[in-house]
Amino acid sequence: MPTATTSAAPLVPVLQGFAWHVSPSTRFGEVFNPSTGQVIARVPLCAAEETAAVVEAAAAALPAWSETPAVERARIMFRYRDLVAAHFDELAALVTREHGKTLPESRAEVQRGMEMIEYACGVPSLLMGDTLPNIAASVDAETVRHPVGVCVGITPYNFPFMVPLWMFPVAIVCGNTFVLKPSEKVPLSSVRLGELLVEAGLPSGVFNIVHGDKTCVDVLLTHPKVAAISFVGSTAIAKYIYETGTKNGKRVQAAGGAKNHLIIMPDADLDQSVKALSASAYGCAGQRCMAGSVAVAVGNVADPLVGGLCDHAGNFRVGPTDGVDNVDMGPVIRREHLERVAGYLDIATSEGARVALDGRRDFAGDGFLLGPSVLDQVEPSMRVAREEIFGPVLSVIRVNDLESALEVGRKCPYGNGASIFTSSGYAAREFKRHFNAGMIGVNVGVPAPMAWFPFTGWNQSFFGDLHIQGTESVHFYTRQKMTLTRWFASAEESHHDPVWKTK
Ligand code: NAD
Repeated sequence: MPTATTSAAPLVPVLQGFAWHVSPSTRFGEVFNPSTGQVIARVPLCAAEETAAVVEAAAAALPAWSETPAVERARIMFRYRDLVAAHFDELAALVTREHGKTLPESRAEVQRGMEMIEYACGVPSLLMGDTLPNIAASVDAETVRHPVGVCVGITPYNFPFMVPLWMFPVAIVCGNTFVLKPSEKVPLSSVRLGELLVEAGLPSGVFNIVHGDKTCVDVLLTHPKVAAISFVGSTAIAKYIYETGTKNGKRVQAAGGAKNHLIIMPDADLDQSVKALSASAYGCAGQRCMAGSVAVAVGNVADPLVGGLCDHAGNFRVGPTDGVDNVDMGPVIRREHLERVAGYLDIATSEGARVALDGRRDFAGDGFLLGPSVLDQVEPSMRVAREEIFGPVLSVIRVNDLESALEVGRKCPYGNGASIFTSSGYAAREFKRHFNAGMIGVNVGVPAPMAWFPFTGWNQSFFGDLHIQGTESVHFYTRQKMTLTRWFASAEESHHDPVWKTK
């Protein structure tokens, strides 16, 4: 919650053009180290005027940047990629410090983010248009891609490093300028990303960072000089961003929350499935939009599956992660979030489910720690089966056959990811074709695409047309221009035979 804090923690700066400055804001949020519960920084919640000034800085840089040759824009990204690689461990440690995920998880996040920069380095090829000579008599057709203008990115807390990189490298190499509004819970990774981008040689104003909450976001959604908005966060806010942004004439891509299903068939390799399900449900303490949240156990696999999950996850080393490399699961983002997630265990019990593994324990220290939980005998109508918990809780629904598992998916309002565990090609194929979600895994716990493929959430998990990542992101950050050309021959030229006729 925003506070007018007097804490001595350092203040996170704003990047407007090349100038990092101390915000004049009188409202602040607090950035915690979730491993210790300590406040490590204060983040300004920028007022409307300050936010508008940052947009103006991005707009002022647009004419020169959009005329900079694509190859030169790409060269800056090559340098940026090398700088990120050179600072790899430092960046991973920072992600762990402000988010709480384990160091191996942070390293994986930095790696995934770096791949987005690598993808953006290929922009000269990605921007090429189409041509068709002689589409009609003496008429040639061609399309080219133009930047859209000032682009905005509004990002969530759960991937402080990777999700901003889902957006600005591609937007920038396409010739746009950018304003990033990172999550006020984890702004430090974004600031470091900005510092390295300046070091890579990006001209002033092409990339800017503003901090804040709804007041700041509302300016970005309505400012006449903003052309496009990329959002990643919860479904309620994604819908608000999409509706407000489009009503104000912006193009918007807004990725929302999720409730991801993991289907386990009786013929699945049980050991592998238990490990994959645990990694999917409890990785990053369950705070991933692609985390497995509901295990759908088909037929007689349910008892051994629940037993295997409790044994495996029950042995997880849960603890602080900052500077520590030997824990399996770290804290969640905030004390309030911990209480909200733990509250779902009581909700589940009151609705008739059974807590097979209870993550609520007394941990030493003030970190926001909660162990992994397994809920058994969950019904699709229960709140734990319908609502996004976003913590280390896996619900198990028992069904008789694959068709019933597909039916569970059809009733889910979200549609981000789903996976099946099976040794049957037929079951895998049925699942792939008919499950109601946009990203599908076969014997894969987290079917999250890498930079080259789009992040294709469906239903309430995505609002818009063009997704983040892959060529869809290039299309989102550009608009096409089509040109038809006809040249008339002069009297002298009209006697000239086409080359092929004279051979
Ligand atoms: P959130 O929706 O609370 O916040 C996301 C962003 O929106 C932040 O920058 C925040 O400052 C801003 N915001 C919050 N309230 C706002 C309001 N009322 N008006 C305007 N802006 C507002 O999300 P979070 O808690 O930071 O992140 C977790 C959520 O993100 C989960 O629901 C998760 O599933 C989702 N997520 C989705 C994807 C995906 O690709 N679909 C990826 C990562 C996370």
